[in-house]
Amino acid sequence: MFRQMDSTGLQDLHFWQDSASGLQAIIAIHDTFRGPAIGGCRFIPYPSTAAAITDAIRLAKGMSYKSALADLPHGGGKAVILKPAKLYHPEQLMQSFGRFVDSLGGRYITAMDSGTQTTDMDNIATQTPFVTCTQTMGDPSPSTAKGVFEGIRASAKFRFGSPDLNHIHIALQGLGHVGYALAKLLHAAGARLTVTDIDPDKVAQAVTEFAATAVAEDEIYDVVADIFCPCGLGAIINPDTVDRFKCAIIAGSANNQLSDNHQGEMLYRRGILYAPDYLINAGGLIFVALHHSGQKETVIQQKVTQIYASLSELYQHAEADKQPTSHIADIRAEMIIRQARLAAQ
Ligand code: NAD
Repeated sequence: MFRQMDSTGLQDLHFWQDSASGLQAIIAIHDTFRGPAIGGCRFIPYPSTAAAITDAIRLAKGMSYKSALADLPHGGGKAVILKPAKLYHPEQLMQSFGRFVDSLGGRYITAMDSGTQTTDMDNIATQTPFVTCTQTMGDPSPSTAKGVFEGIRASAKFRFGSPDLNHIHIALQGLGHVGYALAKLLHAAGARLTVTDIDPDKVAQAVTEFAATAVAEDEIYDVVADIFCPCGLGAIINPDTVDRFKCAIIAGSANNQLSDNHQGEMLYRRGILYAPDYLINAGGLIFVALHHSGQKETVIQQKVTQIYASLSELYQHAEADKQPTSHIADIRAEMIIRQARLAAQ
């Protein structure tokens, strides 16, 4: 555990257990030098406590990188709640988690993530003010979708010379909260969609609503398209898939798309333009962070739209340096975090 903390630069790791509600939770705080750590709370089953710790640490670091490149006054944090195998009391459990968050005195602000809903955030909010994504505030997914849409337009401009998506063929994996909202924006912009999801109802809906072509889950990697858009799982760019992509651009919302850093290098060698995930999918984080600090909706949406400019600038930098885009993004984020740590010493 300490080795993992050391290798990722994690500041601190917190544990909380409450037998009455069945809560077992972990909060990983990667960085607070740029401001309070912010990041979602996962509520999923884990095969072991060690797996949950690893997930929290890895995700907290990713949130620091996301905040840094989006120029938000926050560091990265992440919470995981180990979903109990036996019966539990959901309201009490989330309230107890709220007390856990509150005990950190504002060093960590929580949000929705896999397995948590706005109603859970409402329960947490009965115990602490350090929470976002309550029902009043709403779901960040539409802002994530909007940011990814802007990032796709920036990628098209860089690679094809125009941000116009009319007749551009996009292979979209995952029609969930973000993927479906994004499909709607892409369809409205004239893009042609090929889609997949493990949920056949979502696929059927996209075929009807967006005239999309449906393919089986595993076939999506072989679709000949202009853009591959991952909006489902993480680690979908891995040694088994990296040679299968038949597209010019990979740009989507999924977190941790590269199974390891080497995959970014592989895409670069294959001439595929990769939009670093934590830059293109920062719309949701921008929404929750600025909402929490009381910013107006127009200001928030303006900042989400800036993902177009940030990504365009990163592409130019990577091209000038003849480096993979993933590498340039990592270097930039690490430099921003390091500078804040040095300034505080
Ligand atoms: P979601 O759970 O609503 O949607 C995921 C979708 O992927 C579901 O429809 C699911 O059925 C589908 N899916 C799962 N396995 C699949 C497979 N093997 N093949 C095809 N489809 C599959 O999640 P979401 O909120 O839409 O987030 C999507 C991705 O974007 C996740 O990686 C998430 O971490 C990331 N992300 C989301 C947000 C946000 O605001 N929601 C912000 C940043 C990043």
